[in-house]
Amino acid sequence: MSQALVTEQKLSNYINGEWVNHDGDYASVVNPANGEHLIDVPLSTKEDVDQAVEAAKVAQKEWALEPAPQRAEVLFRIGAIMKEHKEHLSQILTMENGKVIEEARGEVQEGIDMAFYMAGEGRRLFGHTTPAELKDKFAMSQRAPVGVVGIITPWNFPIAIATWKSFPAIVAGNAVIWKPATETPMMAYEMAKIFEEAGLPKGVVNVVFGKGSQVGDAMVEHPNIRVISFTGSNDTGRMIAGKCGQLLKKVSLEMGGKNAVIVMDDADLDLAVQGIVWSAYGTSGQRCTACSRVIVHEDMKERLEERLLAEMENITIGDGLDEKNKMGPIINEDGLKKIESYMEVGKNEGAKLLAGGYTLEGGDYDKGYYFVPTLFTDVLPDMRIAREEIFGPVLSIIPVKNLDEAIEVNNDVAYGLSSSIFTQDINKVFQAQRDLDTGIVYVNAGTTGAEIHLPFGGTKGTGNGHRDSGQAALDVFTEWKAVYVDFSGKLQRAQIDVE
Ligand code: NAP
Repeated sequence: MSQALVTEQKLSNYINGEWVNHDGDYASVVNPANGEHLIDVPLSTKEDVDQAVEAAKVAQKEWALEPAPQRAEVLFRIGAIMKEHKEHLSQILTMENGKVIEEARGEVQEGIDMAFYMAGEGRRLFGHTTPAELKDKFAMSQRAPVGVVGIITPWNFPIAIATWKSFPAIVAGNAVIWKPATETPMMAYEMAKIFEEAGLPKGVVNVVFGKGSQVGDAMVEHPNIRVISFTGSNDTGRMIAGKCGQLLKKVSLEMGGKNAVIVMDDADLDLAVQGIVWSAYGTSGQRCTACSRVIVHEDMKERLEERLLAEMENITIGDGLDEKNKMGPIINEDGLKKIESYMEVGKNEGAKLLAGGYTLEGGDYDKGYYFVPTLFTDVLPDMRIAREEIFGPVLSIIPVKNLDEAIEVNNDVAYGLSSSIFTQDINKVFQAQRDLDTGIVYVNAGTTGAEIHLPFGGTKGTGNGHRDSGQAALDVFTEWKAVYVDFSGKLQRAQIDVE
């Protein structure tokens, strides 16, 4: 552990406002850029989850009675502290996740934005008032906290996704049990320190480190955790949904993507190339919104390929802490092996490899997990590389004849997270934004770049109808309560005593 930024040897769980040492096993957290051991993370157990839930249950009762604008004050302080420590948080994020420092700063900023945005909800959290159907009667609906909620987050956006989930939960008056991914626990540790410094009452947020199969599963099964908000892979999400279904537990799932950029024959090619390269190779393609398909009008295909190949040459690859690098490592060996396996899949299916296709080796690259930006062309919509989430810097070009076909190809996958179209034709813009079956649509921009005050999530296999971020996130962490006040002084029966 040579990085000065890492000062602890072992992380502790954060339960009931205390740092609780763990007696059992630990896992090593490794910097994917150079293989360096960063810290040890506890592999907690069901008993640790039980302890956290007990604390959360008690804390939530008090927290829910705190006026929402007061709850929001704590979020304002959390946002301010995050802002003060933005560079420190960004450096740690790059070290444990690998994304380049510029992107890490962007992710931390997303968390800061979310803190201030959700703090604003403390003076909104709107319900509705509406006329009652009977005389001398008042009717309204209001949001009520759910109770203790569980959030389970992935390694690829270890801070942003946690803030999309925990901040709306906090402002709405819930208490939170947070299980971060084992690969990226340090951001959760830093956030817990910020919660403490901001004066969040003890037990309102509890961080329990450990494996999904232990800690995550114990959260899903726990009778006193009333909501599970999960972001991660489809396999895990489906399993969690099955269990929550049996337990009649509310579950919000944000899962994979197979996102496409459509390039029409009238597109601004310079802009399209920039948008595609940023969306496909940024974060080494390890974003749920990463572009992994380009659906291009056949008349534009050759020019686009030429320009993409030229632009890809400018992507410098290496340790994300070095400002000159534009692309960092893959998260771990398993991730790298999965990407490598798709190279053979693509070639065997008859796709043409235009660039890349291999793991970088030699010198410092041998210490980390680096895959070169890769471009396949002449890809057919039914090939596996055009349908499955590879989660790496691998892009497939699929030629089409017109917009209708482009939209059909875009929609004909199991996922529905993000899509984009480059065109200068206003009619095509409106047709596309109406017909693209994804939760997010971009026009003349790549497939990434969500803003926190809009809903984030997808259709079909990407989710189960809920959304993170924006006002929509409040629906996950609140129950609607309808309240009727009859001030007539007599029994009035709805639907019966209406004159
Ligand atoms: P993952 O393997 O499903 O893990 C996600 C989280 O679930 C981790 O904290 C993991 O814990 C936990 N987990 C694993 N097994 C579990 C179980 N049996 N019960 C409860 N929790 C369990 O996904 P990942 O590989 O980390 O993340 C990449 C995936 O996330 C991609 O598919 C990507 O598209 C998706 N993603 C989606 C969005 C979105 O908003 N749609 C955003 C970002 C990422 P451990 O890993 O610590 O064991």
